[in-house]
Amino acid sequence: MRRPLVVGNWKMHGSSAENRERVAAIAAGASECHGVDIAICPPAVYLQAVGAQLAGSGVALGAQNLCEQTRAGAFTGELLGAMLADVGCRYVIVGHSERRTLYGEDDSRVAEKFAAAAQFGLQPVLCIGETLAERDAGTTEAVLARQLDAVLRRTGVAAFGDAVIAYEPVWSIGTGRNAAPEQVQSAHAFIRGRLARLDATIANQIALLYGGSVKPNNAAALFDCADVDGGLIGGASLHAGDFLAIARAAATAS
Ligand code: PEP
Repeated sequence: MRRPLVVGNWKMHGSSAENRERVAAIAAGASECHGVDIAICPPAVYLQAVGAQLAGSGVALGAQNLCEQTRAGAFTGELLGAMLADVGCRYVIVGHSERRTLYGEDDSRVAEKFAAAAQFGLQPVLCIGETLAERDAGTTEAVLARQLDAVLRRTGVAAFGDAVIAYEPVWSIGTGRNAAPEQVQSAHAFIRGRLARLDATIANQIALLYGGSVKPNNAAALFDCADVDGGLIGGASLHAGDFLAIARAAATAS
C-alpha cells in the first residue's frame, strides 16, 4: 500500500505575514490528517522562514525549482540543490509546465535538474503532462513517454526509487478544469506501466500525484483512482482550510 502524499505549490504567492498565518493553520491541521504525507513549496525566498515554522509539525518543505548545475559557481539568480537541502528541503518540483512553457525548460534540462536533485538527496517531484492540443491530437501517451524517457535515459530507473511523479495535464492547471477521474487513471496507469517495464518494484512503490485544479469538492473522486497516490495542489494550497480538506481526502481515499 503506497502512502498518499499531498504537495502544495504556492507558486509566486505570499508574503512573510501571509505565510506565517497560512503555515500556522496548516501545521495545526496536519496532525488531524493521519496516514498522509504533506509538503509545502513556498517561493524560495521564504524557504528558511517557512521551514523554521514547520519544525516539529510533520509537514515537509519543498522547493519549486533548482539549478541543474551540481557545483557552486557563477550562475547568478540560480539555486544549487545543495543549498535547498541545506535549508531543510526534502522535495523539489522539477519540470513544472510553467517552467517548461514560460522559461523554456526542455526535456533535457528537466532531466539534468532531476539528476541534480537526486545527487543532493532531494526527492524530485517530476511534473509531466500534455497540452490540450496534444490531448486532442491523441498524443497524450506519446508526450508522457517522451517526457518520462528523457529523465530515465539520463538517470536510469533506480533514481525513481526516491522520486515522485506528478501527472499534470497542462490544460487543467489553474484553469478550474480538472481532468476526469477516468482520464487521470488512464494516464497514471500508463506512467506506472512504463516504469514497470524497467523495474516492477519501483513502479509499484512510486507515488504518482495528480495535479490540475484539485479542490476539496473533487479531490476524493480523483484520489479514489487506483493509481493516484495524492496530489500536487496549486491554487487551493493557498487556502489552509482547502489544502487540509484535500489532504484529508487523500488520507481517506480507498
Ligand atoms: C500546479 O501548480 O501544479 C497546479 C496543479 O495548480 P492548480 O491546482 O491551481 O491547477
